[in-house]
Amino acid sequence: MQQHIDTYDFTGKKAIVRVDFNVPLDENFNITDDTRIRAAMPTLKKILEKGGSLIIMSHLGRPKGVTDKFSLSHIVDHVSAKLGVPVKFAPDCQKADAEAAALKPGEALLLENLRFYAEEEGKPRGLAEDASEEEKKAAKAAVKESQKAFVAKLASYADCYVNDAFGTAHRAHASTALIAKYFPNDKMFGYLMEGEIKAIDNVLKNAKRPLTAIIGGSKVSSKLAVLENLVGKVDNLIIGGGMGYTFIKAKGGKIGLSLHEDDLIPSALTILETAARKGVKVHVAQDAVCTQEFSNEAETKVFSTDNIPDDWEGVDAGPETLKMFKKVIDESKTILWNGPVGVFEIEKFSNGTLTVARDLAEATAKGAYTLVGGGDSVAAVTKMGFADKVSYVSTGGGAMLEAIEGKTLPGIAAILE
Ligand code: AMP
Repeated sequence: MQQHIDTYDFTGKKAIVRVDFNVPLDENFNITDDTRIRAAMPTLKKILEKGGSLIIMSHLGRPKGVTDKFSLSHIVDHVSAKLGVPVKFAPDCQKADAEAAALKPGEALLLENLRFYAEEEGKPRGLAEDASEEEKKAAKAAVKESQKAFVAKLASYADCYVNDAFGTAHRAHASTALIAKYFPNDKMFGYLMEGEIKAIDNVLKNAKRPLTAIIGGSKVSSKLAVLENLVGKVDNLIIGGGMGYTFIKAKGGKIGLSLHEDDLIPSALTILETAARKGVKVHVAQDAVCTQEFSNEAETKVFSTDNIPDDWEGVDAGPETLKMFKKVIDESKTILWNGPVGVFEIEKFSNGTLTVARDLAEATAKGAYTLVGGGDSVAAVTKMGFADKVSYVSTGGGAMLEAIEGKTLPGIAAILE
């Protein structure tokens, strides 16, 4: 049975909390962006306030084994400063019995990077490249077998389990999903997870209509499942950025050198047919800022997207398109945005993406519910200073994408089951 952090009695209890402290570090191990650490603080502080102690666990990067570069020891001081208590450190997440047992109410312990062990992800390591299918199968079975003891050890440290790591909620890993079964009556979401789940439900389950999704980014192939799920749910689907050109070409447009995927034209046509059948309006760019060179010094010209010259490439939404996007956004009560509508990393081509960020902030001020997810869109609203002017900024790119594909995330299911 799922518990709630507000009502659960943490007095004298040890809580093992999965957080996402996978923060970027520079070459001197300074944290360059501590958003994820700050995002977990409400949950961690609440447990301490309520008389519990903390066993904090996370991954950092993608180590293939024990590597100083990916040691969570580098962030202990920062976590202590944010939490307001000195955080102890267990240098091996599988040998922390004594440190966990010694924890008193109000104290906190951070376990070393869970991914120093292959058992966290349950994927075999060190397999020879020419390993046979049988060898691969045996290695997978072996790691799955040893994973049981790995999870049991983590669970043995604590009285209750809290999952606050939305960034890894789409993974069925030891610490994000498997551990929950050790705490059938003492498991719960942290506040960050709860906020993310509510935000997604506000769009996918309880949306005020009209509901608009703006999906941008480079390729249709990476967001095909997202488009296929959303086309059955939204009133308006704006397809922007590089992925829009596959749709424009599918409709007979002349797109010059613009990014597109010919093999996905049939899928694009199916999405357009489904949309037409369901009365969903699909909006693609009518005009584009085009270039012949990816640089800030490049010459740019605006062309209609059905008539881009052969040696030009669309890299940003054009002025007519942005007017159309704004009209759709202004008429919507709920808006989901994932993916840039241009090559926004190059300032000269960033106007479209930054304009969408501003449009969303304005729509929010007028009462619309706006959810922004995905690294690039989040970067755009942050760069414009609008992160707190939209309704919710998701912290998990991949997890959010899978949620809007309509998938059940293992990290969420494990708490609800
Ligand atoms: P994604 O990871 O799929 O969300 O894609 C993000 C990437 O899409 C960013 O790096 C953008 O530069 C790229 N992108 C957006 N619009 C275009 C475009 N018109 N042509 C090429 N790349 C684009």
